[in-house]
Amino acid sequence: MRIEEGVKLGFKDVLIRPKRSTLKSRSQVDLIRVFSFKYSSVIWSGIPIIAANMDTIGTFQMARSLSNFKILTAIHKYYSLEDWKNFVILSSKDILNHVIVSIGISTEDFIKIKKIFLLSSELKYICIDVANGYSEHFVSFLKLIRECFPDKIICAGNVVTGEMVEELIISGADIVKVGIGPGSVCTTRVKTGVGYPQLSAIIECADAAHGLKGQIISDGGCSVSGDIAKAFGAGSDFVMLGGMLSGHNECSGDIVEKKSKKYMLFYGMSSVAAMQRYTGEMRGYRASEGKTVKIPFRGDVDFTIRDILGGLRSACTYVGAEKLKELTKRTTFIKVTEQENCIFNIFKE
Ligand code: 5GP
Repeated sequence: MRIEEGVKLGFKDVLIRPKRSTLKSRSQVDLIRVFSFKYSSVIWSGIPIIAANMDTIGTFQMARSLSNFKILTAIHKYYSLEDWKNFVILSSKDILNHVIVSIGISTEDFIKIKKIFLLSSELKYICIDVANGYSEHFVSFLKLIRECFPDKIICAGNVVTGEMVEELIISGADIVKVGIGPGSVCTTRVKTGVGYPQLSAIIECADAAHGLKGQIISDGGCSVSGDIAKAFGAGSDFVMLGGMLSGHNECSGDIVEKKSKKYMLFYGMSSVAAMQRYTGEMRGYRASEGKTVKIPFRGDVDFTIRDILGGLRSACTYVGAEKLKELTKRTTFIKVTEQENCIFNIFKE
């Protein structure tokens, strides 16, 4: 046994220190980033926020709405090939440019993804997604996918430490997905005692990835737009959101009514709810590592996105970053023991 000294930090432990700025207005801030990749020759530009590949969030409907903002959607892996065919036929180039195809690491996943990519050359992104990206089997699968798709942008995860980021990039990933345990409906830290505070994970993993000309996605743990700004400030290239996008028209959660108010169900992909939905059972050797929550229904995702992008632009003006790309360079974090003033929370329903 060994103890690593030095406290690791989460979003709640820091604030971004304001800096002198020549920007006159938030409208001057450019959130579009242009990326080139380690393996893929694709040049992609857009706002590097990603709707999570959870079955309630990463829907085709979400992709249609978010592509209007040049934001990505990681489509969940439970759509059939037939669903994909219908989606691709009905979607413009622009929508497909903002879509990430998610897969697990089974043989069926491998066969299906080959068929999905035959549907359109406009599909550029693959996300190989497992809860624990530290397994040898996962690394072998990544190598296989890189061999089959030499020019696609491959994201792989999740991991939280620099040495594993390096291994995944060397094995064929353009982008590594970072986050174990920070998610809004995740109970991994409680069930297993395993995890890594997200801000420190970003700082350490971004450093490892950028050294090899790779990129990272910070996945999980953002609960307000300030957290997204902190994730970018810490060095993340992309930020993935689940909970912040839940409860909207574009989601596929069930709606329930209570005292004439509408709520939508949102659950983790390792929750009992998800496992029962897709495997019809909870396997005996597994424990659930996700929970189900009921959240007030929020209507169209557009309003939430505008609010998030407004917050992000404002963060950039506070530190004088004319482009989102400059945010990391202009970020100094201060460690804090306070965040929001919660005096009026007692009046919340
Ligand atoms: P959020 O933005 O809601 O904080 O986090 C979203 C992320 O949580 C997802 O992209 C995924 O990585 C993670 N996640 C989703 N469902 C589960 C689950 O059931 N268990 C765990 N451990 N993580 C989950």
